[in-house]
Amino acid sequence: MPIPVEADYLIVGGGAMAFAFADTIISETDASIAVVDRHHQPGGHWNLAYPFVRLHQPSSGYGVESRALGDDTIDAHGWNEGLLELASTGEILSYYDRLLNQQLIPTKRFSYFPMAEYEGDGKFVSIVSGREFQAVVKRKTVDATYQNVTVPAMRRPPFPTHEAITCVSPDKLVRMRAGYRNYTVIGAGKTAIDACLWLMGHGVNADGIRWIMPRDSWLVNRAYSQPGAQFADVATAYMTAQFTAINEASSAPELFDGLERHGNLLRIDKTVTPTMYRCATVSEKELTALRSIASIIRMGRVNEIREDEIILEDGAIPTSADELHIDCTADGLEKRPSKPVFDGDTLTLQSVRPCQQVFSAAFIGHVEHAYDRDEKKNEICAPVPHPDTDMDWLRVTKDFCRSERLWGADQRLRDWLVRSRLNWVWRLGPSLPEGESALKAFFDSRDQVLALMEGKLDQLLAEASG
Ligand SMILES: Cc1cc2nc3c(=O)[nH]c(=O)nc-3n(C[C@H](O)[C@H](O)[C@H](O)COP(=O)(O)OP(=O)(O)OC[C@H]3O[C@@H](n4cnc5c(N)ncnc54)[C@H](O)[C@@H]3O)c2cc1C
Repeated sequence: MPIPVEADYLIVGGGAMAFAFADTIISETDASIAVVDRHHQPGGHWNLAYPFVRLHQPSSGYGVESRALGDDTIDAHGWNEGLLELASTGEILSYYDRLLNQQLIPTKRFSYFPMAEYEGDGKFVSIVSGREFQAVVKRKTVDATYQNVTVPAMRRPPFPTHEAITCVSPDKLVRMRAGYRNYTVIGAGKTAIDACLWLMGHGVNADGIRWIMPRDSWLVNRAYSQPGAQFADVATAYMTAQFTAINEASSAPELFDGLERHGNLLRIDKTVTPTMYRCATVSEKELTALRSIASIIRMGRVNEIREDEIILEDGAIPTSADELHIDCTADGLEKRPSKPVFDGDTLTLQSVRPCQQVFSAAFIGHVEHAYDRDEKKNEICAPVPHPDTDMDWLRVTKDFCRSERLWGADQRLRDWLVRSRLNWVWRLGPSLPEGESALKAFFDSRDQVLALMEGKLDQLLAEASG
């Protein structure tokens, strides 16, 4: 007989989005929540992350609404020198552990079922004991697994590898006990960037690294997305430059030229046109180091690693057992088809602001209880699928403009957003003015700029799609 578990909300998945949603509901309502998750502690994919991963956006904009992460220190050394601190994986996991044990469970409205597999229809089973549970859900079942984050440690390399060849996920690097003659990093995204920087940080020369990069990517300049008064001038210049670049462009290539000229977007090789955009951020220091890697292989994806050669989509390159291959190809930011966030007694957590998953989940938590009809809630919380291609930069920026206008025009939402800790985007640039009329004037003028940008991006997207 399954053990009954009664809660207003059953949340399936115990990652960062689940906790951001749960925290808002617990803080702002008297509802009860049960969370079911496969891992032994909260944090989702961070439990399996490579040990040297850090947030790539400032810690101050991550976590849940009610609890700060980090203390806004400016890094004094390292790749991120001069910029706001980026939490390590250890810090992130400790944060969620403290949130769970010191804050959520003591409310007595929050129950947590780790090491449990959800099987559907409210049923879940302990992976350890086999005990079965049946949730009695009074309000909604929340799917906090939909974004389907995959990190390299979750799966084997997606290509066959000869037994003489060593191909590891980046989490294995820290357990290395003898170095290799050369290193081949496979993948074009943030994980591959981290692996290259980690190797260089440990004294590997750039010419000892070969980087298989199936696509070049536009990268976000991290210096321009630093919230807080000390960065206000830089952020204002960044926003103005972005508006100017969009306004002046008469085609998508011209837009990217403008964004690069103003420093908003960066690329590793200025002679190669990127076809990818996945919200990865870099500092100038990181970019300089990455640019020193001369051996970049642009021959498509790896199909197979044989004893003496790597077979790629567009050809083959030599390799050997003396080389360490590092598989950084997992998709941590899958572009999923969007579905309505609110659908009767089911709620599916998705990004409603580009690449801002935790903010999105907290915001959805607020909208869930503050508004009545699903139709209205879905209008406010339109999903923004993760970007993948260069043109997706235009799409997600357009979506951003649309929702910012909608949210800014709704005073109730604005009141929440002005106070929101995770809404660090509103803390970029000059401080928001005090008082309702000054705030209204501020949002009215902002609205005009957003409308112009949205219209222009729409036009560029339509032209690009022919
Ligand atoms: C390397 C890396 C760096 C990142 N850096 C940043 C950053 O700087 N800033 C930022 O905002 N975002 C960053 N992100 C994005 C990050 O993915 C999100 O911020 C967030 O952690 C995603 O959380 P989630 O809850 O959606 O997913 P997950 O962490 O994947 O959580 C989902 C959970 O559901 C569980 N689950 C799935 N199915 C079941 C089932 N049937 N039964 C039980 N449990 C189940 C999974 O085991 C998992 O624990 C980064 C991502 C990666 C991969």
